[in-house]
Amino acid sequence: MSPAGLYLSVPFCRAKCSYCNFASDAFGPARMDAYVDRLCEEIAQAPAKASGMGATLPRDVDSVYFGGGTPSLLSAVHFQRIFEALQAVFSLQTDVELTLECAPGQLADDTLAELLRHGLNRVSLGVQSFVDQESRAVGRFHTKDVCLAEIARLRSAGVQEINVDLIAGLPHQTHESWRISLEQAAAADVPHVSVYMLEVDEESRLGRELIAGGVRYHAHHVPDDGLVAEMYLEACEFLGNNGIPQYEISNFARPGHASRHNLKYWKRLPYLGLGLDAHSMLGGWRFQNTDDLNAYLEGKAAPDPVVVTPHEALEEEVFLGLRLNEGILLPEDGPVVPVLQQLVREGLMQLQGERIALTPKGRLLSNDVFTELLGAGAFSL
Ligand code: SF4
Repeated sequence: MSPAGLYLSVPFCRAKCSYCNFASDAFGPARMDAYVDRLCEEIAQAPAKASGMGATLPRDVDSVYFGGGTPSLLSAVHFQRIFEALQAVFSLQTDVELTLECAPGQLADDTLAELLRHGLNRVSLGVQSFVDQESRAVGRFHTKDVCLAEIARLRSAGVQEINVDLIAGLPHQTHESWRISLEQAAAADVPHVSVYMLEVDEESRLGRELIAGGVRYHAHHVPDDGLVAEMYLEACEFLGNNGIPQYEISNFARPGHASRHNLKYWKRLPYLGLGLDAHSMLGGWRFQNTDDLNAYLEGKAAPDPVVVTPHEALEEEVFLGLRLNEGILLPEDGPVVPVLQQLVREGLMQLQGERIALTPKGRLLSNDVFTELLGAGAFSL
């Protein structure tokens, strides 16, 4: 049985960024204490929950990922309790990849020390931009100098696996300023960079303002879609030319530094999500927790688990596999084959020996490609 990955969601932030569409918010210390209580309870109940649905929960764990939110805001005592709960249920492998998402400048010394004691070896920094005007405009608290100091501090504490998150499409961003962020990420010599394009939807203040055509939250300084697309393609080229090639639609890594945990999502390996709005895939089942904090704290029932049918499994294999630059094995037959061939002719996909993968243009338009595959009934069994 493959070892599992564990995702632990921590939905607390110092303040809500204008573009944020996650289930996260700013709450006081009492809420954090109650949340950690509930999280520890959920960890203890995980084996019974899995066996209740007929799924096997691996005891061996080779990746633990604290995401959010800003999990670096939890205290040393919180992490001590969470690790005690984890160790009572799971066996963390000696080479476990242990990642913490962290807002630059928001990780206390004693919290870092406690995490290092438990094997912290990877930190994902929510930089988003190395240009201070852009960070300020979306409500981030850090500056470029704080980000660089955080990278140096983590390295001297022994954490070498550092990811820098960047967003293309922030207010005030230009070709030139985007280049500054890319160059700074490469100059900082981090082994991993994630690049996201700004999402415009009704789940964020900035998204709502953009949809409404307003000017609050610097909405009138958001670059247009064409420029954002160019920035994304520039990131792919620039990072690749600087030794950080792309391996997934949004992720770039120096050789040997891809995220083990995130690869589980794209390769359909087992993972258990714990905490608010966390998703899981275990032994043919998918399930998720509620995204309502009060309901989660009260331990209210989450939506029922669903069995992944063979049809859905095939769809997932193709859609998730195509997110990776290595693509998928070219299917030998079935209705998917002519659709893939058409996408190759349109320059959205490319053949690589026995495999097929998205082209750079296909990665940019991946949602359209996936919609075309679905619309063509490409996965009828
Ligand atoms: S730090 Fe991250 S999770 Fe928190 S509000 Fe900002 S974008 Fe959202």
